[in-house]
Amino acid sequence: MKIGILALQGDFAEHISMLKQIGVDTVEVRLPKHLDGLDGLIMPGGESTTIGKLAVAYDLMEPLKQFGKSHAVWGTCAGAIFLSKDASSDQPLLGLMNIKVQRNAFGRQVESFETDLEIDELMKATGTEHPYHAVFIRAPIIESVSGNVKVLAALDDGRIVAAQEGRWLATSFHPELTSDARFHEFFISLVS
Ligand code: GLN
Repeated sequence: MKIGILALQGDFAEHISMLKQIGVDTVEVRLPKHLDGLDGLIMPGGESTTIGKLAVAYDLMEPLKQFGKSHAVWGTCAGAIFLSKDASSDQPLLGLMNIKVQRNAFGRQVESFETDLEIDELMKATGTEHPYHAVFIRAPIIESVSGNVKVLAALDDGRIVAAQEGRWLATSFHPELTSDARFHEFFISLVS
């Protein structure tokens, strides 16, 4: 199995080291040809407007959309925004996943926070029982979902922060910035 990591901007290196840790081969994706032969794709956190602009500049928009239609794709934070159908802002989006996101929903950088989440699907898939410690950095929320989207996690006030639609995954937070590999394992289970 080979997983691509969109490596245009953001914290792609952290995803790569997490996947290495669980024994999965990775490829850095910067050009359309890098998608050849991949089994899935992770799009990292960073700045979604920059990721979008670079994806346009490197002619990646259409190849990423086509790849996503037949493969597992996971977006974390900015990556989740880029994967969404609607971000209420004028920026390039892949428009694959039936989620509407609100960018910077918690305010500025100083309002970044960490919290424990009970994520049944994740605990079931990994045979574990402890909550997932999630890191939010200028994070979006998933304002609404449609189609076949399943909500995986929400904050105590009900705001959605993780969702799944078939083999697509969106998380507002950054599993690549923790030492807990369960979300990466969960994604790999969707790929295979
Ligand atoms: N605020 C960023 C955006 O709108 C996302 C932040 C992140 O990925 N940590 O794209």
